[in-house]
Amino acid sequence: MKNCFELLTLNFVKFFNTLTRNLDEFRPLDPAGKRVGLYTCGPTVYNFAHIGNFRAFVFEDLLRRYLAYRGYDVLHVMNITDVEDKIIRTVRQTGEPMRQLTARFTAAFEDDCRALNILPPHQQPRATEHIAEIIALIRALMEKGVAYQAPDKSVYFSIAKFSRYGQLKKIDAGQLRSGERVKLDEYEKESAGDFALWKARDEADGDIAWESPWGRGRPGWHIECSAMSMKYLGESFDMHCGGEDLVFPHHEDEIAQSEAATGKPFVRYWLHCAHLMVNGQKMSKKLGNFHTLRDLFAKGFTGRELRYTLLGEHYRRPLNFTLEGVEAARASLARIDELLVKLQEIAGDTSPNAGDAAGVEGLVGGFEAALDDDLNVSAALGVAFDFIRDTNKALAAGALKPDGAAAVLQAWQRLDTVLGLGVPQRADAPADIVALAGQRQAARKAKDFKRADQLRDELKVKGWVVEDTPKGPKLKQI
Ligand SMILES: [Zn+2]
Repeated sequence: MKNCFELLTLNFVKFFNTLTRNLDEFRPLDPAGKRVGLYTCGPTVYNFAHIGNFRAFVFEDLLRRYLAYRGYDVLHVMNITDVEDKIIRTVRQTGEPMRQLTARFTAAFEDDCRALNILPPHQQPRATEHIAEIIALIRALMEKGVAYQAPDKSVYFSIAKFSRYGQLKKIDAGQLRSGERVKLDEYEKESAGDFALWKARDEADGDIAWESPWGRGRPGWHIECSAMSMKYLGESFDMHCGGEDLVFPHHEDEIAQSEAATGKPFVRYWLHCAHLMVNGQKMSKKLGNFHTLRDLFAKGFTGRELRYTLLGEHYRRPLNFTLEGVEAARASLARIDELLVKLQEIAGDTSPNAGDAAGVEGLVGGFEAALDDDLNVSAALGVAFDFIRDTNKALAAGALKPDGAAAVLQAWQRLDTVLGLGVPQRADAPADIVALAGQRQAARKAKDFKRADQLRDELKVKGWVVEDTPKGPKLKQI
C-alpha cells in the first residue's frame, strides 16, 4: 500500500520542452490527467519523404507509443501539407496537376509509414480541405488588428502586435524586422518580419487559388497548421512536435497566429527532434547521399531494420546514418529474435503467473526509467541488451523454466508496444504467403529481379518479409 508521500512522488515522464528550455514534468491539460492532444507536423507531399524526415516521424511514433504505454489516452493529429510554395513550384516545373501530385505522394508516404510500423494518426487533415477554417482564423486576426492586407493584396501577420513573438526561437526583440514583409514559407531567423497568412494569387500560382474576403489566393504554410491543430485538438492542447528545422519560422509563427487569435496559450510542450546526417555529412542531393526508403529497400534492407536504425539514437542527438549502421541494426534485431524464438520454444503453451514477474522487474523498471527521462531510447535499449545477455547465460546454464520464459515473453511483448519492432511468430506462414515466397525464389533463380522485388513488396504489404539466409529464404512476420 502506497502512502500519500509516495503517491505524490510517483515518477512523471519528463520531456525537454523547447519553449522553456527545461526538462519539464509532463502533466496533461485534461483535469483527469488522462487525455493527451498531440499534433505532429506532417509531410509536404511533392516528393518522396527522405530518411531525415522519417527520423522525426519515427521519434513522434515512439513518443505516442510511450504515452499510450504510460496509460495516457492520446489523440494524435498529423496534417498533410498539400498546398505550399514547394508544391506549387513542382506543379509549375512538371505540369502534373496539383491534386494528382499530392495524392500520389500522400499514398507513397503512407506506404512508407506502414513499412516503418509507424502508427497512423487518428486524424490526418489536409490543408486544401480546411480552407474555410484557415480563412476564419485569418479573419479573427484581421478583426483583432494583428493582421493587415498589404499593397500586394496578400495578408500579413504584424509581429509588432504580438509581444511574445520570438519566444520559441529565443530571438531578441531588437533583431525583429517588424513592418518588413516576407512572403515565402521558409526563411531564416535574420529575416524575421511580418509573414504571409494569405498569399494573393500571382501568375506562378496558375489556377491554384481560392476565393477569400481578401481576393483570390492561397494560405501560407504556417496558418494551415494553426487552423488544423486547433480544429481537432482545441485552442490549447498538450504537445506539438517536429524536426528542429521547424522551430523557426514554422512553429514560432504558429504560436503567434494561434495565441493572437484566441488569447489563450497554444501548446504546453514543444518537442523537437535533431537532424540526421549521412556518413557524417549533411544529406543533400548534390552529395549523392540522399536516401529515400525506396532506395534502401532496393539495397535489401527492411522497414524493420530501418525503423530500428532511426529509433535507436536519442531524439535530441544528431543521428549519423550509415549503411553499416543499418547492418548493425540487422544484427541487433537478429539477437533479439534469436532469444525470443528460444524463449517461445521453452515456454511452449505455458502462461506466466504473477510470481514469475520478479525475473523481469529489472528489465521493465530500467526500460521505463530510461524512457521517462526524455525518451532516452538508447539507454532503454542498453537495458534490454544487458537483459538479453543475462538471459542467454541463464539459457546456456539450463536455468530458465517454461514459466520464467513465458514471463519474459509477456514482458517483452509489452515493451514492444513502445518499440514497435515486432515479435517473431512461431506459427508457420500461411499457404498463400509460402506460395508467394516460392514464386519470388523462382524469379530470383531466373534472374528476373524486377519480378522478385515486386513479389517481395507484395509480401511486405501482407505483413511478411523474406530474408535470404545461407540456408535459403526465411519468412518472418513484420
Ligand atoms: Zn506544421
